Amino acid sequence: MITRTLGEISVMIGATDLSDKHATIKIEGVSIDSRSVKLHNLYIPIKGERFNGHEFCQAAAANGAVAALWNKSEPNPPQDMPLLFVDDTLAAIQRLAQAYRSQLDVKVIGITGSNGKTSVKDILAGLLATTFKTQKTSGNLNNHLGVPLTLLRLQEDTEMAVVEMGMSGLGEINQLAAISQLDAAIITSVSEVHLGDLHSRERIAEAKLEIIHGLKSNGLLIYNGDNPIFMEQFNKQSPVCRSLSFGYSPAHALHPLTSFMNENGIFFSISDADCPELFLPMLGKHQMINALSAIAAARHFGISYEQIKQGLLQVEATGMRCELVSIGNCTVINDAYKSNPTSLRAALEALYAWKGKGSKRKIAVIGDMVELGQEAEDLHKEIGEELDATQLDAVFTIGSMAKHIALSAMSKFPYGKVTTCMDKQEVIDQLKQIIQEDCIILIKGSRGLRLEDIITALQKEV
Ligand code: ATP
Ligand code: MG
Repeated sequence: MITRTLGEISVMIGATDLSDKHATIKIEGVSIDSRSVKLHNLYIPIKGERFNGHEFCQAAAANGAVAALWNKSEPNPPQDMPLLFVDDTLAAIQRLAQAYRSQLDVKVIGITGSNGKTSVKDILAGLLATTFKTQKTSGNLNNHLGVPLTLLRLQEDTEMAVVEMGMSGLGEINQLAAISQLDAAIITSVSEVHLGDLHSRERIAEAKLEIIHGLKSNGLLIYNGDNPIFMEQFNKQSPVCRSLSFGYSPAHALHPLTSFMNENGIFFSISDADCPELFLPMLGKHQMINALSAIAAARHFGISYEQIKQGLLQVEATGMRCELVSIGNCTVINDAYKSNPTSLRAALEALYAWKGKGSKRKIAVIGDMVELGQEAEDLHKEIGEELDATQLDAVFTIGSMAKHIALSAMSKFPYGKVTTCMDKQEVIDQLKQIIQEDCIILIKGSRGLRLEDIITALQKEV
């Protein structure tokens, strides 16, 4: 994490009115949350819609903060704490992160995309850690605050930083990538996520491509070339940076040749003849595609295929991304972190391909997909039309949008096999019986639905 004097930090963010007596105060790390402040932290109060961090400066000091930033427009600055006055504390933390990053001898890889950012981050960090001192975004800390905080947590001797970058509108990735000064960038995938905010797939593609503006002049862009709308946008912009494509299609520089899934993960071989067969302990072909982008980045930074093979075995995946959970006789695929048509299709493919315990009885629990704008109803119906009745023993939908999935699937299934539920409790009541026997259940819905609660409730039943 950043360790600098308050005087140095003042210069880094362009604050002017620090008294000499405070300039030598030693800062170790920053915090934006007074409750989790650590000793010697710089407290950076952020003003949000529902809270104003400036009100918690005293609490931050009590918890060990030795100084704070202060927005000039806020009244009553505390008198008993060294303060750096700035126009905007959010812009200041971003400036500080950018300045700190530029002082470090670290390679930064930025990851954006509609699905798979956290997964690729975990895989790539696992590969790089075989050889380099590596740090990665913690959890999903991927926005205008999360990215600066991630950079400010880097150690001076960290060699590789894997930074996740999320967005919900145009211009955001531009900013995050500029702060991070990227040595490489990955666009994992482009799909309908944030259609509600951005209104068109073209604009979604455009938003992801912004990442190239933060690439250093010799930086490498690694992009998923499978989406035609993204490719149209890519060709239109014809970025001048070095680039490499990956994806299912043999047209891409890096693509899979063979793949075989078992209940522990996926064996696969890739288009580079020098690469031995690999095993990724994650569920679903989509994770293999994610892994291709991580392999491309790892190779770019000199990791050998032998190290890649070992590194893949040690990936520490974040929970709730096709995570397997055993409940009594039944196995649950916990994919409750988020949902959208592309990631739901990927999860259903993983369920269909499942050959492990419970494979004779496959059940899908599908919640609403949010943020799909005006196309929401149609996109739910399409999923219903695609559901494979030969693969699934039963389907439960939760919520008023997911109901459209059930309605358009119903005619394909025997009577009573598709059930529409309005809340989680209804599903829990139904699944209580089902989990007494061997089966596999996929649980997937958008974040707001917190469908993991179903799993917690079922665990109490056995
Ligand atoms: P967020 O925008 O919320 O940060 P993310 O881009 O970080 O999401 P992950 O957390 O890696 O994505 O995965 C989210 C969901 O998408 C999970 O259900 C996961 O199984 C699925 N997923 C991951 N990668 C892909 C992919 N390449 N294609 C389709 N679905 C994917
Ligand atoms: Mg994420």
